[in-house]
Amino acid sequence: MEKQIKELEKQAKKLELGNESRDKLLEKLRDYSQHFLSNLPENQAFKGSTNPVPHEIMDRFNEQPIDFDDILSQFDDHVLSNGINGAHGGHLGYVPGGGLFPSALGDFLAAVTNRYAGVYFASPGAVTMEHGVIDWMGSIFGLPEENRGGTLTSGGSIANLLAVTTARDELSVSSKEYDRLTLYGTWQTHHCVDKAMKIAGLADAKLRRVPMDDEYRMDAQKLDAMITQDKNEGLKPLMVTATAGTTDMGVMDPLDEVSEIARNHDIWYHVDAAYGGFFNLVEDLKAIFKGIEKADSIVVDPHKSLFLPFGTGAFLIRDKQKLFDSQHVIADYMQDTVDARYETSPADLSPELTRHYRGLRVWMPLKLFGLSPFRSGLKEKHLLCRYAWNELNKIKGIETPPEPDLSITFFRYVPQNDDADAFNKALINKIQEDGRIFLSSTRIEGVFHIRIAVLHFRTHKEHIDLTIELIKKYIGELTNS
Ligand SMILES: *Cc1c(COP(=O)(O)O)cnc(C)c1O
Repeated sequence: MEKQIKELEKQAKKLELGNESRDKLLEKLRDYSQHFLSNLPENQAFKGSTNPVPHEIMDRFNEQPIDFDDILSQFDDHVLSNGINGAHGGHLGYVPGGGLFPSALGDFLAAVTNRYAGVYFASPGAVTMEHGVIDWMGSIFGLPEENRGGTLTSGGSIANLLAVTTARDELSVSSKEYDRLTLYGTWQTHHCVDKAMKIAGLADAKLRRVPMDDEYRMDAQKLDAMITQDKNEGLKPLMVTATAGTTDMGVMDPLDEVSEIARNHDIWYHVDAAYGGFFNLVEDLKAIFKGIEKADSIVVDPHKSLFLPFGTGAFLIRDKQKLFDSQHVIADYMQDTVDARYETSPADLSPELTRHYRGLRVWMPLKLFGLSPFRSGLKEKHLLCRYAWNELNKIKGIETPPEPDLSITFFRYVPQNDDADAFNKALINKIQEDGRIFLSSTRIEGVFHIRIAVLHFRTHKEHIDLTIELIKKYIGELTNS
């Protein structure tokens, strides 16, 4: 057996690279990344693809190794050659993420050092860093210092799931009564809340759609009336989700009014600020966030308005004990980790036990850049969106909503004779075929619209000017054809 172990050791040690090999790989990776980033401006924001990606290259693994150069070229040929370029400043579709370089360095360090950030005992430093990041986020929104807390998640969907499960457990109703629970949102509430209800066992609870006013904001008086009526009918109102920046339209719900109504009715007041949250760092925009400081819970997505690469959301809570009570479960084999001297562990505040050390990818860019460029970048995105909206309004035949609250707007062109939906569908197809800018479309009350979402840290005035130029060009082509 000992001989066999020694023989296996020889083979297994291939997984450990020597200094020189590591150097070579790092050099290649560095050259590849540098080349990718310096060529971004000449590259497309979008490449639609009709060629299927070859499975035999992507999902067959041999016993024998493949050269790193070949691996990088497979990545280049089959991943970077198609779809949306998420690192590109011309990405103005859906909700763009960022991809801050120091976050990539943070991920690299997290993976190389492999610190376990799930429990305090295993890495007091990593956990303190994550708690620090969460505490800073709570402070931005004015949650009272004493009891605030939360957890970093993979994204906004899981963070919203935590809002639903924590509110559910806090109410302490038997699961037999779940069909009597009511939740409130609008038609613009993100669909991850519907999904969260299903996952949380609340499929039979009701998600009430509160009507919106002319500016697509939740009508707080109607919310009040709906809750009252539900109570009168013997139902159990659980929570209201106000959205701080709706994904589709970029609109802020009236947070302060909603907070009052939630308090009067004693229901959980949740703010989904996954898209818009960090705009609160901009001094001029703080006023529209008034009322968020009264939230029981808040969701933000650093991979949206903090410009991080995909993979980081955050659930913030006013009273972290409630999250702990909802998530904490004792396991015998974890007994070493329980000690009054230790801080609460992320594993006790989240469904995850072993998890990516996410704190580092948030912490690294905030430390390295300081907060100031984030504030400037966000204010720039806001002004760029207003600038785009102004320019759109100068184009004859274009209809726009009210001026954008944050950095998302939408429009449609109304042709004189043709069907407007078909025209705008043809227009978005032309823009996507062009690919220098990526825009996506939506339906607003059933009517086809094109969206502009300014959120990438690499999006600057030149991209908006190009967007307007392409819109004019293709409207011209379609009108004359
Ligand atoms: C993006 C978004 C979500 C979902 O977040 P993911 O990070 O994509 O999971 C939820 N709510 C709002 C308002 C969003 O914009």
